[in-house]
Amino acid sequence: MADAAVLENYVDGSWIRAEARETLDVPDPSTGALLARVPLSGAADVDRAVRAATKAFPAWRETPVADRARRMLALRELLERHLDELARSIVLENGKTLDEARGSVRRGIEATEFAASAPTTMQGSVLEDVARGIDTELVRQPVGVVAGITPFNFPVMIPLWMAPLAMVCGNAFILKPSERVPLTAAALARLVGEAGVPPGVFNLVHGGREAVDAILAHPGVQAVSFVGSAPTARHVYATAAANGKRVQALAGAKNHLIVMPDADLGKSVPAILSSAFGQAGERCLAGSVVVAVEPVGDALVARLAEGVRGLAVGRAGAEATRVGPVIRSDHRQRVLDWVATGEREGATVAARGSAPGAEDGYYVPPVLFDRVRPEMSIAQEEIFGPVLSVIRVRSLAEAIEVTNRSRFGNAASIFTRDGGAAREFRYRIEAGMLGVNVGVPAPAAYFPFAGWKGSFFGDLHATGRDAVEFYTRKKVVTTRWF
Ligand code: NAD
Repeated sequence: MADAAVLENYVDGSWIRAEARETLDVPDPSTGALLARVPLSGAADVDRAVRAATKAFPAWRETPVADRARRMLALRELLERHLDELARSIVLENGKTLDEARGSVRRGIEATEFAASAPTTMQGSVLEDVARGIDTELVRQPVGVVAGITPFNFPVMIPLWMAPLAMVCGNAFILKPSERVPLTAAALARLVGEAGVPPGVFNLVHGGREAVDAILAHPGVQAVSFVGSAPTARHVYATAAANGKRVQALAGAKNHLIVMPDADLGKSVPAILSSAFGQAGERCLAGSVVVAVEPVGDALVARLAEGVRGLAVGRAGAEATRVGPVIRSDHRQRVLDWVATGEREGATVAARGSAPGAEDGYYVPPVLFDRVRPEMSIAQEEIFGPVLSVIRVRSLAEAIEVTNRSRFGNAASIFTRDGGAAREFRYRIEAGMLGVNVGVPAPAAYFPFAGWKGSFFGDLHATGRDAVEFYTRKKVVTTRWF
């Protein structure tokens, strides 16, 4: 496969070769087979996209908002029609199962539907008589050229959190997708073009760090939406802000799932297993630490262990697979190293699943750790793989304290039948997205999506009305007629 195709960037409505010559291999995580090569675009490639976006912006901005919304509805129809194709592309290059991939495309469709409500959500406000005969109105206008920098784990959903909302608000958009899932990004770009979005309004620039740094340095980019790991998020946030850009940077996670003694284990355990091991643990909302409030520990660990031993790990596209591969062989090694660290730190391996050998793809046997202590590094650091740690505590108060000790604060859940416990949890937990008897508390696209603390740098969250605020500037006009 030495001749695997080098992907092209999509700029000004055309597919073009990147000027940068360096490329990166894109393997299928299920087999290691080479799928394509992605160009590592540089400053010249980014500049070309920014110039196209800048040129397209004035006419797009003046296109009536209802027309812009109709293009998003057209995109929505195309996404629906190509749902299976997009899902298969995700299975191929990301290693999710088909069900997981379909579900994630569906979430992206939801975000596109929400974007189409811009004629309502972009509305401003008017107040008469702020002084005698003087009125004040607030209008929202686009910010200009916006860039979206996305991670590998949701190749359709996360670009669709950003692009439709940014575009419908009248901005021109540049997507810099993860270099590890570029094929799905290209499929998405083709659909955006087909939806009647004019040339230059949506551009796709492949690449990695260099492309990101060129975006952050470019004076023509007014705002940056980022989703990815904590160190990159911090870098993007600091650099974009230092360069005078508006920025929102969603980062890593270490999500805690509190299980109360009165929890319905029959229903809670499947939800916990699916949260921790679904998508091989490569979800920013994945449950990573179970905080078991005694005396539930023994019964809970026994059931979780049984579940872990029964998880079918294998090729993402195979019918029986419940847990696919992780994204790359170096990531596989990192996760295995974390498991070794957990054992070294004195955690008990309560269950270890089985997985195909490394020669077939990037498979990791799922692991359940019991008797983990909050100070262990496996309880603190993001592992982003199929590893779940159980910490046992004596009370809800202690469970909340352990959860809040995390430097991350993306999501947290409680499993209980007690409304008072759920209320206490909701009131005290320091995280952005909470679940009550829900393992993956992902907000629907019409609500804001982001964490707290080390899981988020910025103020306006992704999606929902926050996204409309992020992708627009407010202008306030005070009027008096003589
Ligand atoms: P990543 O940080 O490696 O990459 C994200 C993006 O940043 C990619 O486009 C990549 O090309 C770019 N990038 C990587 N290193 C860079 C560098 N040094 N300088 C500039 N740009 C760089 O993240 P990933 O591995 O693709 O994604 C997984 C991470 O994303 C996890 O930490 C996960 O928790 C997080 N995530 C968070 C959310 C959320 O909503 N908070 C959602 C999804 C994923």
